[in-house]
Amino acid sequence: MSKKRVGIVGGGIIGTSTAYFLSQHYKDAEVLLFEKNTLGSGTTAKSAGTHCLIDDSLPHEFWSVRLFGFEFYMDMEKREPGSAGFEKTGTLLIAPYPEYEMYGLQAVDLATAAGYTAEYWKDPEKIRQILPDLTLDGVLGAAYSPDDGFVDPTMISNTLGRWARENGADIMIGTEVTDIIVENNKVTGVETSNKGHFDLDVLVDATGPWTPFFGKLAGLDLPIIHTKAEVFILEPKEALGYPFPVLKYPRFYARKDKENVFICKAHLTMDLDNPEHAGVWNPDDLPMTGGTDPYFWDFLTEELLKHYPRLLDTSLANDWVGYRAEPKDFMPILGESPVDGYVLAIGAGGNGVIEGPTIGRDIARYVMTGEKAWFVEKLPLSRFENENLEQHHKVTW
Ligand SMILES: Cc1cc2nc3c(=O)[nH]c(=O)nc-3n(C[C@H](O)[C@H](O)[C@H](O)COP(=O)(O)OP(=O)(O)OC[C@H]3O[C@@H](n4cnc5c(N)ncnc54)[C@H](O)[C@@H]3O)c2cc1C
Repeated sequence: MSKKRVGIVGGGIIGTSTAYFLSQHYKDAEVLLFEKNTLGSGTTAKSAGTHCLIDDSLPHEFWSVRLFGFEFYMDMEKREPGSAGFEKTGTLLIAPYPEYEMYGLQAVDLATAAGYTAEYWKDPEKIRQILPDLTLDGVLGAAYSPDDGFVDPTMISNTLGRWARENGADIMIGTEVTDIIVENNKVTGVETSNKGHFDLDVLVDATGPWTPFFGKLAGLDLPIIHTKAEVFILEPKEALGYPFPVLKYPRFYARKDKENVFICKAHLTMDLDNPEHAGVWNPDDLPMTGGTDPYFWDFLTEELLKHYPRLLDTSLANDWVGYRAEPKDFMPILGESPVDGYVLAIGAGGNGVIEGPTIGRDIARYVMTGEKAWFVEKLPLSRFENENLEQHHKVTW
């Protein structure tokens, strides 16, 4: 029997997860991955990589996705220590209002039911034992898990790319897909910048924020908007003197970055109608570092003034901008498109790291068997035809 030739375009965390699951579980798949730069060098390289069961970025409705991602990366670390770059710091989610407190309480419930350690504290002294310098006026409580932390998404992409290669996948770096051949509304192949033409049975679009441009090569107008993810790395003038967990507030989050602190505005606070937050820009124009806007710096310094003034006694060690690929409901777009053989693994927005293993597993299954698991069934492109699009991210905000 001839193999199904699957070409994945994009070697970020979504493309490499898909290549890994295809090559690991489907011996009748011939897997080709095209990455125009290096693996994990796009949005994946700009990510915070927070790896948390206590987290507000993906609503509890999608708990199975969060848990599968979490356990997949822990299993990577067991198989090959360091292969996911996991650093266990714990998470502290601070609840300033009742809906958020309920969200935190449920997060603790879900994490403990899955066998992890998590607690909800109303006592400010408990919270201060983790972060002594927080201002806790008006705070209702905090959810804490020592099991959480952050991973290195570029390391994960490279490990999964290597494991896929060991399984027989052809992982091409420095190879751009420059054209998509569509005949009778069916993808039949691609042209590349340096390796010529490839015949394909299926193309998986995993181009992250490049999607609005890439889809046009097949005549598709894919509904992806960019939101700016602006990161500031703060270097304390004096060492903080305590381990720094992943810190979550509704409007911003922070984590350690070696001896420094990484801060970023929470992605679910982004307003797709606000040109300071969102638009469609060319990701090739983004520098690796720098390029941040005063708007985000002002927003974050105001938050720190309210909640964590000690972090203003710092200097700026680094900053950068990433573009999250956000559909209008902040959830990915998975599965079929109007062009046969053009499969979507796009729009992972601010959750691509935690969603990567589920998307990779479920897209591999869809491509090879036609079966749609829950995440694929729930998040088709066709949902945008519905005027009453479900807004999952409004659950807590
Ligand atoms: C500041 C920031 C913080 C974040 N924090 C988190 C977090 O804590 N947790 C979480 O889960 N998510 C987080 N995210 C989101 C997460 O990083 C993204 O959702 C994820 O990295 C997207 O991965 P991707 O593979 O879809 O896209 P990308 O990593 O952008 O990969 C797309 C790849 O496609 C390649 N490509 C494009 N066009 C072509 C072509 N024509 N031919 C060949 N190759 C092509 C590009 O070079 C690129 O490598 C964060 C994002 C940012 C910016």
